[in-house]
Amino acid sequence: MTTPRLEKENEYAYVVFNGEKVSKNSVAKAVMGYRNEGRPGATALFGPAELGYACPVCGNENADRLYWSEYSGFIWCEECNLDFPSCLGVKYSPPAIGQEPLNDRERVELQTEIFLKTVSDAIERWRKQDGRGSDCD
Ligand SMILES: [Zn+2]
Repeated sequence: MTTPRLEKENEYAYVVFNGEKVSKNSVAKAVMGYRNEGRPGATALFGPAELGYACPVCGNENADRLYWSEYSGFIWCEECNLDFPSCLGVKYSPPAIGQEPLNDRERVELQTEIFLKTVSDAIERWRKQDGRGSDCD
């Protein structure tokens, strides 16, 4: 794996990744906040592809081209240059290695579980903000 060419927007987000301008979602930023809010530089032990996620648009499940998004609860596909809610990218039961894709019912059950956890995390974030309001642009 080569070192990506990066240009940071701030301590949590990039403007340029591998020479390409990255997608932005101001609503995701306002509602969900940054993934590593309060913990700049934190890195996940496993990437989304390793945990059973794939891009719901192009099917990308390449660990080197599917990343945790800068937004909490989101994944970023480098192929599509798109941030999407992680629940939409469920394909395999974690760990993904050696697994068959989940059947429709199993996938929707796991998507629902992840959706509810994501909403719960967002509510907790908003409670902690205690009325500081939206940081929407
Ligand atoms: Zn994609």
